[in-house]
Amino acid sequence: MKTIGVLGGMSAESTALYYRELNRLVRERLGGLHSAELLIRSVDFAPIAELQARDDWAATGALLAEAARRLEGAGAEAIILATNTMHLNAEAIRAAISVPFLHIGDATAAALTARGVKRPLLLATRFTMEKAFYKDRLIAAGLDPLVPDPADRDRLQAIIYDELCQGVVKPTSTAAGMMMVERGLAAGADGVIFGCTEVGLLLRPEDVGVPVVDTALVHCEAAVDFALG
Ligand code: GLU
Repeated sequence: MKTIGVLGGMSAESTALYYRELNRLVRERLGGLHSAELLIRSVDFAPIAELQARDDWAATGALLAEAARRLEGAGAEAIILATNTMHLNAEAIRAAISVPFLHIGDATAAALTARGVKRPLLLATRFTMEKAFYKDRLIAAGLDPLVPDPADRDRLQAIIYDELCQGVVKPTSTAAGMMMVERGLAAGADGVIFGCTEVGLLLRPEDVGVPVVDTALVHCEAAVDFALG
């Protein structure tokens, strides 16, 4: 089994989920007492979120590239970045390492296609919903992503940063998220991307009514495929 380097802490809530899921998948596939070979570098999210808010992606890229380099130096045989948003820095990270970087957008696009989805509603941070880096990757994979309207994007951004990333899940926010899903389906979405690694804490796929791809879960599957492949 190969060792996966997890670049996490963005937020710690979702990295905890990655840790559980990576180990669950390895146990499911190998049985018994098997668990994943992991190295986790979990950063302090507060300074990174400040840089995001200032649109200083050069600084976040330098920071994450250095963290990835250290993970490789410690023995990681592939790197996963446990957040969608910070994949804005995917190229900076890739350039800093020589082991594979398993991109969350690729795992997501493959899972959407496998489920027959063509027009997914992307529920994510404002950065992921509004900037090109993520949507372009989905479009390049033949998908036609939709995003919520500006008011819903603001609300979702606040739910992610002020609640989910701080370990808070409010029923009123779940209801708001479900309204966003309903509006997306009315606008023609045929699937939903939980495009922020914390959205699975807010919404349940079985409540959505169309195929759902939880990016954190399919990213973990891709990592375990690599580790055991
Ligand atoms: N974990 C989130 C994501 O998947 C948001 C936090 C961040 O900005 O990294 O995008």
